[in-house]
Amino acid sequence: MNNIPTQIRNKFIDKLKQQGISNISVLNAMGLIPRHIFVEAALKNRAYDDDALPIGFNQTISSPYIVGKMTQLIIESDNMEKVLEIGTGCGYQTAILASLFKQVITIERIKPLYEKSKLLLKNIGFKNIKNIYGDGYEGFTNSAPFDAIIMTAAPKEIPEKLVKQLKPNGRMIIPLDENGSQKLFRIKNTKNGILKKEVDDVLFVPMLKGIVK
Ligand code: SAH
Repeated sequence: MNNIPTQIRNKFIDKLKQQGISNISVLNAMGLIPRHIFVEAALKNRAYDDDALPIGFNQTISSPYIVGKMTQLIIESDNMEKVLEIGTGCGYQTAILASLFKQVITIERIKPLYEKSKLLLKNIGFKNIKNIYGDGYEGFTNSAPFDAIIMTAAPKEIPEKLVKQLKPNGRMIIPLDENGSQKLFRIKNTKNGILKKEVDDVLFVPMLKGIVK
């Protein structure tokens, strides 16, 4: 793999630590996966800044802090078998998840993004990622139930179909757009219903219905 130059990596990891990313597995994965190969050539020199960057089609790669924060929240439990990601985008978050979970299923609704990220992740050498071209609102019943679901686009309400694809006590990290203001939630699927905990203010692209060719 195309390693991150040491000096840049140290600065990148120090910044994440300052921002409250403390989980050592998350920091190791982010120090290993080269973010610069996921962004457009013209933006490579900004790949390790704490910014969301454009990836085409009006979409953005989430900032390193958000990727770290969401990953830290989703691995806060011992069951790391199977995770479903909604919104593959450029595939950076997918690569981080694949370094930590046994199996990652990731869904993208924009075909060129799906194709590009699928190829890139395959070329890096990941064998535990299944890329799906489809509408994330449907989830992926063939591989359900999941230990965890992570959403990188914001719906207006918790998609019921996705909750049904979680294992008992499974968790979901979801940015919700409620009345125009977005908040990140951690949801737990307990036998007494859904437990919902607010964790941060965020800004994600909207989760949209259907697929784009
Ligand atoms: N984790 C990605 C974030 C990309 S932005 C990254 O780091 O690059 C969010 C992505 O969610 C976009 O690519 C967008 O096309 C996708 N998306 C939005 N609604 C979706 C849906 N219903 N199903 C699947 N993907 C969706």
